Order: sequence, then C-alpha cells, then structure tokens
Amino acid sequence: MTEDPTARDASAAILGAELPEGARFVGPIPGLAPRWREGDHPTDADLATCVACGLCLPHCPTYRLTGEESASPRGRIAAMRLVAEGRADPDATFARFMDLCLACRACEDVCPSHVPYGRMIEAARVQIEPLRPAPERWLRRLGLGVLARPRLLSLAVRLQPLARQFLPARTRRLLPRRSRERRLPPVLEPRGEPRGTVALLTGCVQDRWYRSANLAAARVLARGGWRVLVPRDQACCGALHAHHGHLDAARALAERTITTFRGADAVLVTSAACAAHLSEVGHLLGTPEAHAFAERVEDVVRFLARNGLEPPPAGLGPVRVAVHDACHALRVSKIREEPRALLALVPDLELVEIPSGDVCCGAAGLYTVLQPETSDALMRAKAEAVAATGATLVASANPGCTLQISAGLRALGSDAEVLHPVEILDRAYGR
Ligand code: SF4
Ligand code: SF4
Repeated sequence: MTEDPTARDASAAILGAELPEGARFVGPIPGLAPRWREGDHPTDADLATCVACGLCLPHCPTYRLTGEESASPRGRIAAMRLVAEGRADPDATFARFMDLCLACRACEDVCPSHVPYGRMIEAARVQIEPLRPAPERWLRRLGLGVLARPRLLSLAVRLQPLARQFLPARTRRLLPRRSRERRLPPVLEPRGEPRGTVALLTGCVQDRWYRSANLAAARVLARGGWRVLVPRDQACCGALHAHHGHLDAARALAERTITTFRGADAVLVTSAACAAHLSEVGHLLGTPEAHAFAERVEDVVRFLARNGLEPPPAGLGPVRVAVHDACHALRVSKIREEPRALLALVPDLELVEIPSGDVCCGAAGLYTVLQPETSDALMRAKAEAVAATGATLVASANPGCTLQISAGLRALGSDAEVLHPVEILDRAYGR
C-alpha cells in the first residue's frame, strides 16, 4: 500500500512543534524579571487585555496631535509591557510617554477588549514619580498636599490676590478669581413635599473657585423636594492625587471621604471628575465598604435628571447653550443625555452641540500646568469649536474644564459665559 502524501506526523499537529531551535512565540522572555519599582504598577492581567488592534488610535487626542505611536494608547501599553517583561526600565523615556497622556480615557471607551486603561495609567504614573527632579517632586507634593488640607487650601485661596503677581503669566491667565459666595449651610430644607435626604460633596477646587455651582446644586435640589446635608468636615476626594501618581494619598483621602459620608443614602457630587473618581473607589481600596460607598455616589446632574424636576416657569430669554461633556463624565460615568435633558426644561433655551465635542479640552487635572504646549493646542481647538456654535452660554460640569474653556474663550475675545448646568437651571428658577 502506498503512503498518503497528505497524511502528517502526529507531532506536527502540536502548535509550535516545527519551530526552528531558538525561535519562540512573541511573549515574555523566560528568565527576565519585571523591572517595576516598589509600589503600584499596572498588573499583568490588565496589560494582557490589550490585543494591540489599534482601534483606539484615531480617538486618542495626543496621537492625533503628534502622529507618534509612543503618544498613543497602544504605544503606552507596549511601553508598560516592556517593563513588566523585564525588557526596559521605567526611565525618563517611559515617563515622557506616560506624562503626555491626558488620562481622558477616550481609548478605553472604544476598546473592543475592554482594556482598563484608566487604572493602568494611574498605576504607571506611580512608577515615574521617583524619577522627577527633587524640586519638581516637592512642588507636586506641596500642591497636592495643600488641596488635601481644607484649612491650608482656604488660606492659599485667600492669599491668591497677593500671590497672583508672582505666578507665571500663563498660570495667572488660567486661574479664576476665588468665589465670593458664603459657605453653604450645613442643611438646606426641601421646598414642598419632601422626597428624601441627600448629602452634597462640594469638592476642593469646585468649592473654592466655583462655589456658585455648589450653591446652585443645593438650591435646585431643595426646590426639587430634597433635604440637602453638607458635611462640614469633608476634604478633597483625591481624584487629582490618583491621576498624578499619588495613589497612596488618593487612598487616604478616599478613606476619609467614606468616613465623612458614612450614613448618607446618596452622595451627590457637582464636579464631574470627582464623581467619576469616587465611583471607582471600590477598585482603589478593594474593601466591601468602599464598594458600597461607590454605589451611593452619583453625579448631581444624573441624580436630578433621573429623579425629575418641575420645569422653571420662565426662561432666561432666548439663549443658545453649548453643552460640553467632561471626559470622565462621558467615559466613566457614561453621562451624556442627562445635562441636555435638564437644560431642555428651561423655556426658550436652544441647545447646540460642540463640533468634535467628545475630544478632551486639555484641562485633565494638572495637565494644563504640566504639559502647557499640548494643553494649549487642545484648549484653542475646543474654544474655537465652542465659538463656532455662536452660543453665549456653555454648560460645563467639571471645574477643570470650566477653567480651561473660559481661558480659551477669553483668548479668542469671546465673552461667552461657562456655567455648571445646575447654575443655568438655578438662574431660570430664580426668574
Ligand atoms: S487598548 Fe484596546 S483598542 Fe487600543 S490597541 Fe489595545 S486592544 Fe486595541
Ligand atoms: S487616556 Fe486619552 S490621551 Fe491617554 S492614551 Fe487614552 S485616549 Fe490617549
């Protein structure tokens, strides 16, 4: 009987059995150890989720600006993998790749593999903190330390008019005037039939520079029938610390926030980025209490839209409002329709969309100070897109974005006002 030429040796059916000696499939090199420093770093399980398909690239603002693979999500994840596989150090080049990222999470939103990019970049940034020159390291520590201490922060804000003249021109241009409004009362009683009790997290930046948004939120909630508690001993939630490589400080601040709001059924947050950060503290702390707390946190915009409000009897006159979606509201909290639904309650208010509205405005926490060139390019593009709508009001639910878009519009000579959506509602109710 003649041998069938198509019949194959049984061993050839084993994947890789015919590889020449020394050849191997792509993957970790045996014998090499990870080169992470002590402390947080991206986990192997998270790194393994990226299949390097590149679908996220066109959505990444830094890739779109530079065209560089190293400024793309895939490139950054590849750099993290090299360190995890022991083929590179978390060095100055690695730091440059990670620093340029806005942590806007546009990549995460479109990723078919559900890569948890947000927590990967936060952990990768912990690794690069020790690399920074000492003065920069201490400056960052000082800035984030002041934010975490309410009394020091209040003092710094009071000294702002004096300190302003010593600040670099760019920072001076960006920095808003401090809020003149008085502190929120510890309790606001509901109007009409009570619907329940909520606690308001007022935030650090939001409450010192944009307190009017907190006041408006409290008034709109009370008008809607909610009793509003404003705990006195609240501090920064730690979102900025987490985004900028200080995860231990972020954990301590999250613990403190959980303690402050223990017993509150609903914790409402006016700053979109803080709401998004607190919705993820379950992962950050890994305790059952943190997971339960995260369930009780809600962006005030979503809470109001979900629970419904009586429309204001009169509007602000014919007014065109452009809605800005903060990256973390859009990608983490998945909030898009809610601010539009709330603003549509105001009579005579015309809502308009900002062209390429889902692209980051370049504020990104401290990014505006740390990466001025890229931040300015994104700020300019956003301000031009807003101006093109002809809107006289911009609805923005995140203090960083409000600061950035206001500065961008001022630079264009536009006098469009940037307000939190609840401020626009509150103004309409006040008529
Ligand atoms: S992050 Fe997601 S979309 Fe981007 S390359 Fe990796 S798997 Fe693809
Ligand atoms: S978080 Fe934003 S800037 Fe960073 S890689 Fe993803 S899309 Fe690009």
